[in-house]
Amino acid sequence: MSTVSPLSQIIQLKPIFHQKIWGGRRLETVFGYDIPEGKIGECWAISAHPNGDCLIEAGPGMGGTLSKLWAAQRDTLFAGATGDRFPLLIKILDADGDLSIQVHPDDAYATEHENGSLGKRECWYVLDCEPGATIIVGQRAHNRAELAEMIEGGRWSELLNEVPIHKGDFFQIDPGTVHAIKAGTLILETQQSSDVTYRVYDYDRLGDDGKPRPLHIQQSLDVVDYDQVAPTSGTVTAPEVDGVTGLESNSCYTVDRVRVSGIKNLEQHWPFLCLSVIDGAGEVCGLPVAKGKHLLVPATVDQVELAGDMELIVSHL
Ligand code: ZN
Repeated sequence: MSTVSPLSQIIQLKPIFHQKIWGGRRLETVFGYDIPEGKIGECWAISAHPNGDCLIEAGPGMGGTLSKLWAAQRDTLFAGATGDRFPLLIKILDADGDLSIQVHPDDAYATEHENGSLGKRECWYVLDCEPGATIIVGQRAHNRAELAEMIEGGRWSELLNEVPIHKGDFFQIDPGTVHAIKAGTLILETQQSSDVTYRVYDYDRLGDDGKPRPLHIQQSLDVVDYDQVAPTSGTVTAPEVDGVTGLESNSCYTVDRVRVSGIKNLEQHWPFLCLSVIDGAGEVCGLPVAKGKHLLVPATVDQVELAGDMELIVSHL
């Protein structure tokens, strides 16, 4: 039993926004975030990555960054966690245009080729999308030579596996999976804390500087998993039990969708829980929250009291 009040232990972070050539304005219009001018594609809501290390607005470590808190209090606040960095990164993406066709390395490849970075395993929960929206997950080449040939020939529609998407769909993207989020999509992404992306194709677009963004064909050919079976749909088939639907569980993270109607207690057995309110409003351990709010609950809180009418994405190691 913890002796401190759960509310005082909850970590509230200031989101960091990233401009992207494919970004839009829905992080403001749909989520109410105070975002900078321009095309804003990403909200890094819970992150200790060097490319976007969130400031702590309330709770333990207030005024400092999440990476500092992790370094200083990993063993006490995040009991049982190992590793030299906060391992997950929670984002919301607003794709007003298509993201580049890309692939991420696994931990082994990233450690060796990307200065000790983590690899990038990620998953997507579709918060909303326009009618007819699609996503690219998987590719059809059987080996490196065939993939090189298809890229060289620009045979994109033959190569890429395109899947229709709907609000509430979920996709797990393992390292080595060729993928792209496409226009008209709002996504909540849970991923390893990594920013290593190998671009396979960028639709021959030019960046704000008038130049194409770099491609990484050799690295892509190295890391693509040629044996993978591509999905045909992102429909969630797992049962909802007492408001909780298990979306994914692997060696990097477990992700659940939690629906609250009234009062619900979540047991907290892990080094931390990442909570993102994706719809509705209510309270978390007495703290008022609404759509777009993200919280980090450390191991020192063993019961998370949820109340209200809301839907959350909850993740842990
Ligand atoms: Zn990706």
